[in-house]
Amino acid sequence: ALEVAAYCTFFGFRNWKRVLYPATGAAVLAYYAARLGGAPAGDIRALVSCIVLALTGAMVWMLLRPGAPRSVLQRIIGINDAIFFVVMSARAYTGAMPEALAMLTPHAMQSISFITGYILMIVNGFGFVLLCKEKDDREMAVLATTDSLTGMVNRRAFFERVASARALAARLRKPFALMMLDNDHFKSLNDRFGHAGGDEALCMFAQTSQGVLRDNDIMGRLGGEEFALALPGTDLAGAMQAAERLRCAVEGAVLPGNGYSMTVIIGVVLVDPNEHINAALARADQALYQAKSAGRNRIECGEPQLQYACSACLF
Ligand code: GH3
Ligand code: MG
Ligand code: MG
Repeated sequence: ALEVAAYCTFFGFRNWKRVLYPATGAAVLAYYAARLGGAPAGDIRALVSCIVLALTGAMVWMLLRPGAPRSVLQRIIGINDAIFFVVMSARAYTGAMPEALAMLTPHAMQSISFITGYILMIVNGFGFVLLCKEKDDREMAVLATTDSLTGMVNRRAFFERVASARALAARLRKPFALMMLDNDHFKSLNDRFGHAGGDEALCMFAQTSQGVLRDNDIMGRLGGEEFALALPGTDLAGAMQAAERLRCAVEGAVLPGNGYSMTVIIGVVLVDPNEHINAALARADQALYQAKSAGRNRIECGEPQLQYACSACLF
């Protein structure tokens, strides 16, 4: 029962106490009632096996339930528990009807039960500790790669993802576009509506942007109100279109509560396959400052690198 409680807590089932406490109490009472009532040993064995069977069944269900994400480790523990479940079923059956499975004498059944029970203890004991570590590692990976305010990838994860996306684009001989984005007059938004209002605006900006991007586009928060967006497989003309879509979406989004709407400046460049990402970002940053100098709420195309020519500087 303690093990089931641990799994319930681990998997986030909230109301387990309401079921497990009374069920375990009832099981203990049933056991002592059977003993005091002088029930035959076989029946008591069957009763205890049924109780363990129910608890093991709960663990098997939690570990292998359909639809839940199941790691290899979780499957191993679940299958091991399922084997024990089958053994407990046979033990319950032979306890209640000894003549039904004549080749399984109580002694043989007891040996099988103890061996599988022993393996269960080892696998579940170590397995549970490893499951906790696996879960912690997953949570740490999310914390290390996500911006906690906007839920976007953070600076570090952005550069990691961009590196692998660029390698793939280069292998497939596909273009790769990059943008730098900066919210206009963000400081004055903060001054007017407070830091919480600014935070809300950043979240809304992130949501609005994600809403107009493709699945394989990579957008990350580089810091403050500055963001970067990588568009694998997109040429400069496509990137300018995406930037315009994004700019319009941000301009059209209204902050609930205060009716404020933000604007954004965007610098767009096409990344050369041999160019260092920082050099491409510097070009996008330059374009960003051109957009800022030319008045806000604009898109500018960066200086071309090598043979690439900017064919869509129309904004
Ligand atoms: P510009 O239009 O020239 O880009 O000016 P700006 O005010 O948008 O940019 P500036 O760099 O002058 O100021 C950025 C402000 O963003 C200052 C900083 O306090 C605020 N900021 C940075 N990170 C956060 C955050 O996580 N939440 C909030 N609410 N504000 C932030
Ligand atoms: Mg800025
Ligand atoms: Mg700004």
